[in-house]
Amino acid sequence: MIPYGKHSVDEADIQAVVDVLQNQFLTQGQQVPAFEQRLCDYTGAKAAVACNSGTSGLHLACLAAGVTAGDLVWTVPNSFAASANAARYCGADVDFVDIDPQTRNLCVAALEEKLQQAQRRGRLPKALVVVHFAGSSCDMKAIAQLTAPYHILLIEDAAHALGGKDSEGNRVGACRYSAMTVTSFHPVKSITTAEGGVVLTNNPIYETSLRLHASHGITKDPAKLPTGHANEPWFYAQQTLGFNYRLSDLHAALGLAQIKRIDTFIAKRLDKAKRYDEALSALPLKRPLLDENSAWHLYMIEVAPQQRTHIFNTLRAKGIGVNVHYIPIHLHPYYRELGFAPGDFPHSEQYYKGAITLPLYPDLSVENQEQVIATIREVVG
Ligand SMILES: *Cc1c(COP(=O)(O)O)cnc(C)c1O
Repeated sequence: MIPYGKHSVDEADIQAVVDVLQNQFLTQGQQVPAFEQRLCDYTGAKAAVACNSGTSGLHLACLAAGVTAGDLVWTVPNSFAASANAARYCGADVDFVDIDPQTRNLCVAALEEKLQQAQRRGRLPKALVVVHFAGSSCDMKAIAQLTAPYHILLIEDAAHALGGKDSEGNRVGACRYSAMTVTSFHPVKSITTAEGGVVLTNNPIYETSLRLHASHGITKDPAKLPTGHANEPWFYAQQTLGFNYRLSDLHAALGLAQIKRIDTFIAKRLDKAKRYDEALSALPLKRPLLDENSAWHLYMIEVAPQQRTHIFNTLRAKGIGVNVHYIPIHLHPYYRELGFAPGDFPHSEQYYKGAITLPLYPDLSVENQEQVIATIREVVG
């Protein structure tokens, strides 16, 4: 089976992890701060707080944003559940903004309308989690212009998008228009640490909160400790209820080795996306917009909804490891329990009904991609 996504690990990656195993520290050593610095250098963000998954990063970002019980957080239905769950961990209510069927990203017009409604009803969100679907950046400038008058905090879920740029050429992660950007280092993402994530920000207040919450709410910073402990080097203080969301040095060492190749990875993904775009252009299916700034995490086609299941199962039977991204979040039983129903976000639902994710990853060989293309021509054409 040709998988839909796959990590690329080479000898240098392996050696980097082995080196850490032979060092003094497996965690809380020098690899994590070095990886955080590399992530700042690469994205242009002032601070990076590494954590043990993209999901914990989203939770930390919501905590740093001050999201709490009774607050409202908006995101899009067309994403992985974690984009919405993070706000639920903080006790907040979640609502969604539908997508634009062309970009498959948050629809700016729908956001504008929903903001006006929310203001009339007197319940605006505290934060908006935007998702750069499949690696293609949302229109952050337009989104920020709409949300700024209401002081809504922008959190970018860039789990798909590290290595990409927005349409103005700002690197994803630079937080040009957002409070914080979160990404994931799961093996199918741009670079991997096996499990891992990071929150990027330009704001030192958020950075402090992120670090505190990622490590039990405990600080050793002398400036923040109660007085009278100056000669007690062991002393620390738990200031809030935090979590153990730290990344280990083993994982960070893999990330440090991987990030050296990120631009090659993204360039290879773009090449393969272009090949699909050209090879599938004559077929009765919808292709994604060919965004040259995208990190090309995923490549989704849309077929006629009544044929999707048949086409999907036939491709699987022929050794093509297709997948579907995403079941709209509001349609999961957990969110249905909270009051959401089919028909609430029609563009996300319509997109989902026809969506099929094709194999796309840096090491996808020319032969394997041609096999995918030939099989799709046979099944769809
Ligand atoms: C992968 C992913 C996450 C979660 O990242 P993990 O590292 O798996 O916890 C969050 N949001 C989106 C959109 C993702 O694709």
